[in-house]
Amino acid sequence: MAVFLYNTPHKKVQKFIPVQKGIVRMYNCGPTVYSTAHIGNFRSFVVIDLLRRVLEYQGYEVLQVMNITDVGHLTDDGDDGEDKLEVAAKKEKKHPLDIAKQYTDEFLRDWNALFLKEPLARPKATDSIPEMIVLIQKLLDTGHAYHAGGNIYFDITSFPKYGEMSGNTLDKLTHARVESDPHKRHPQDFVLWFSNSKFKNHILQWDSPWGKGYPGWHIECSAMAARWLSDAFKDGSLHEDLFETIDIHTGGEDNRFPHHECEIAQSECSLNKPYVNYWLHVRHLLVEGEKMSKSVGNIYYVHGLIQEGFSPRAIRYVLLATHYRSPLNFTKQGLVAAQKNLDKVDDLLVRLDALRAEHDYNESLGLVVREKILAIEEQLADDLNVSGALGSFFEMIKHINKEFDSLGNKQAGELVELLFDLDRLFGFIPRSVLEEESLPQDVLDILQERSLAREQKDYQKSDELRDILAEKGFIVKDTPDGQSCSRR
Ligand SMILES: [Zn+2]
Repeated sequence: MAVFLYNTPHKKVQKFIPVQKGIVRMYNCGPTVYSTAHIGNFRSFVVIDLLRRVLEYQGYEVLQVMNITDVGHLTDDGDDGEDKLEVAAKKEKKHPLDIAKQYTDEFLRDWNALFLKEPLARPKATDSIPEMIVLIQKLLDTGHAYHAGGNIYFDITSFPKYGEMSGNTLDKLTHARVESDPHKRHPQDFVLWFSNSKFKNHILQWDSPWGKGYPGWHIECSAMAARWLSDAFKDGSLHEDLFETIDIHTGGEDNRFPHHECEIAQSECSLNKPYVNYWLHVRHLLVEGEKMSKSVGNIYYVHGLIQEGFSPRAIRYVLLATHYRSPLNFTKQGLVAAQKNLDKVDDLLVRLDALRAEHDYNESLGLVVREKILAIEEQLADDLNVSGALGSFFEMIKHINKEFDSLGNKQAGELVELLFDLDRLFGFIPRSVLEEESLPQDVLDILQERSLAREQKDYQKSDELRDILAEKGFIVKDTPDGQSCSRR
């Protein structure tokens, strides 16, 4: 089945056609590891994970690379301000690389908690300095870059297509802002390599043909994308003929300009090939309708929400359930509602799994289920139409519940497998739903008390005890075989 994606520069949904049949080269702008990644950052990563699952479901091999930025990203996203890592290092009285390690570890912990698939490579900017230097040298040799005041700048007027994707074209940019850096020929020129005296206190520095210094943020992604998704840097030197155009490049909507425009300019001027065929940008996340900010105190983190008792699956569900081109309004009520939806799925799985009665095969239900699965597949392939797909999914759950009493064990078993198969797409239906696990003693005690209450038909008490278990992070289900309890 063909996959369709909204391609930012073309402003429309287009059929996805990879450069190489069956293979998708995908580069994702990753986190800058100077603080804990919040749920807004993870929204992008969950969308990318969904995209990868949809492509893999359609039979593509996805070569996914996501970088870790651990140097060069300044506080204003441009060339003013200070390196975010160095600011954090000063504040926390640590070395910038220790800061990077600390927040990379946290990032990976939350990444794994949300069932995100592991990329092919997760390169760090500080490990790709030689490739950046090679690219910058090429840009100097070909007249696209210049030395001024100790730094090296990219000359955007040397690339007439600059700004086309985001609409920030050269004619519009000329008077767009007053630049504080007097060395720039055009206010929007950007730094490829910092080595002037203003930055001499920067802790992370590398030798280069232009003196000690460190790279600008934009050149990092160009270098890492070429290095990890093609053979352009075979043997350490530049082989532009071996560079492969990247199929899909993603980022948050704020990366569109200037970051991605700068990437396009540098890469196309040094590699002489189209850089990327499909650009996908994820919209922002709001919390209770407001922008997340430290001053409002409404920044949420994956780990913090898990510690509050929300399940990682519910967090994943919320971050996934709004289409990536719409802003997502994140609320805790949303998490509770997500958990209810997941409970419906789990409940059905447990009941199907427990089904032992023999009945005839329910052909009409089989037909409905096949229809719904096809609809889910089609909807997700259509620019990740996640609300359509979740709609079909829960219609299917409703149908199965309605016909539940007519199911035989063979069909129940098949349905269990079909639901688990959809985890390949959604990533929130893990097999662990049905796994027996050893429960803590206090939970066992409550379960015993609840079983007694149910025997005595004291359903109010039974419900109260169910709520207590939920607060402890356990879900209890009533099945024909008695209670079944699992961790959320
Ligand atoms: Zn990037």
